[in-house]
Amino acid sequence: MDSKMTRPESGSDSLKADETKSSWLRFFYVGVTGESFSEDVRRVFIINLFATVGILFTLPLGVFSLLNGDSVRGAILILIAFLYAMNHVYLRYSHNHSLSGSFVIYPLYALMIYLIYTGGMNGTGHVWIFCVPAVSLFLHGMKRGLIELGVFTFALIFVMFFMDSHFSDLGYHDTLKSRILFSFLVVVFLSGIYEYSMSRFNHELKETSTKLKLVAYIDALTGLLNRRGMLQRLEEKTGETFHLLLADVDFFKRVNDEYGHDAGDYALTELAEIIQTSLPSGGFASRWGGEEFLIAVDGCSESDIYSLAEEIRIRIESYEFTYQDHTFRMTLSIGIAPTNEFTPLSEAITIADNRLYSAKRSGRNQTRKS
Ligand code: GH3
Ligand code: MG
Ligand code: MG
Repeated sequence: MDSKMTRPESGSDSLKADETKSSWLRFFYVGVTGESFSEDVRRVFIINLFATVGILFTLPLGVFSLLNGDSVRGAILILIAFLYAMNHVYLRYSHNHSLSGSFVIYPLYALMIYLIYTGGMNGTGHVWIFCVPAVSLFLHGMKRGLIELGVFTFALIFVMFFMDSHFSDLGYHDTLKSRILFSFLVVVFLSGIYEYSMSRFNHELKETSTKLKLVAYIDALTGLLNRRGMLQRLEEKTGETFHLLLADVDFFKRVNDEYGHDAGDYALTELAEIIQTSLPSGGFASRWGGEEFLIAVDGCSESDIYSLAEEIRIRIESYEFTYQDHTFRMTLSIGIAPTNEFTPLSEAITIADNRLYSAKRSGRNQTRKS
C-alpha cells in the first residue's frame, strides 16, 4: 500500500503481481472449505502442491523413459502424472481431501516400491524414496502417517534385502543398502518432528483464536453475549420470525451512588443470571449496554412473549439483592417488538427501544408491547 502511495507509477504493476500471486494461491487452495488455518486447509494445500510437483517430475521422466525405449516405466510415470492431474480436478469439484490425499499417497508408495524393485533409471530409483516421509506425514497426520510409513519401510526392507529383484542384480553392497534404509528412517524421524510441531502450533493457534472470539463476543462481567456477539447471532437469524425484549434497569445509577460501583457490578451479574435462567430454550440474552439487556426469543405468540417479559420483570422486582451488608431491590422496564420478514432487525430494535422509553415515561417497572 505504502509503495503504491509513494510510487504511483508502479501501482498497476504491483497490483498485477498480487493478482498473479493470488491466482497461483487459488490454484493450490482448490477444494478448500471452512476455517482459514485448519488442518484440513493445510492438507488441501499440500495435496495440490505435491500433485503439481508430482506432475512436473513424473511427466517429463515418463516421456524420457518412453523415448529411451522403457515403455513400461514410461507408461507408469505418465499414468501417475495423469492421476495427479485428475486428482486436482476431483478435489476442485468434490472438496473431499481425505480421498484425494489417498490418490496422491498410495500411487506414490506403489511407484517407490516399483522403482526400488526395478532399480529405476541406471540404478537411481532409490533416491526418490526420501520424499515419501514428508508427504505421508503431511497428508495423513502423525498417527496414520507413521503406521503407513511403518508398512512402507517393511516393504522396502523386503524388496531391498530379501527379494530376487532387479535391485539385487545391481549388486549394491549391504552397507549401502543399510545406509539407504537408515537415512530413510532419519528423514522419517525429522519429518515426524516437523509434523508434530506444526500440528501443535496449529492446535494452539486455533485455541487462541477461539479464546479471542470469546473475548470479542462475550461480556466479561455478566458472561452474556455483548453487543457485537448479539448482533452477530441476530444477523444469523435474518428473515426468521422472533421477538425482541429490550430491558433497562430502573434508577440503576442510585445503586452505584448509594452502595458503590462494585455493588452495581454485582447487581448486574445477578440480573444477568435471573434473565438467563428465565429464558425458554429458543432464547438468548445479551448485555446490550451499561444496564440494558437485549433478549431474543423464538417461537412465542404475542401473549407468550408478554407473559415471559412479565415473568422476568416480576422475578427481578421480588428479588432481594444482598451485597456485603447492603440489601436492596431493583425493577426493570421492558419494551417488546416482533421481528419478521416485514420488520427487519434494526427497525425492531428501534420499536423495542421506543416501547421501553414509553414504559419509563409511564412510571417504570412495567412491560410495553405496543
Ligand atoms: P433510568 O431508570 O432512567 O434508566 O435510570 P438509570 O439510573 O438506570 O439510568 P442512567 O442512564 O442515568 O444510568 C445508568 C447507570 O448505569 C450509569 C452508569 O454509571 C451505570 N453503569 C453502566 N455500566 C455499568 C457497569 O458496568 N457497572 C456499574 N456498576 N454501573 C454501570
Ligand atoms: Mg436504567
Ligand atoms: Mg440505560
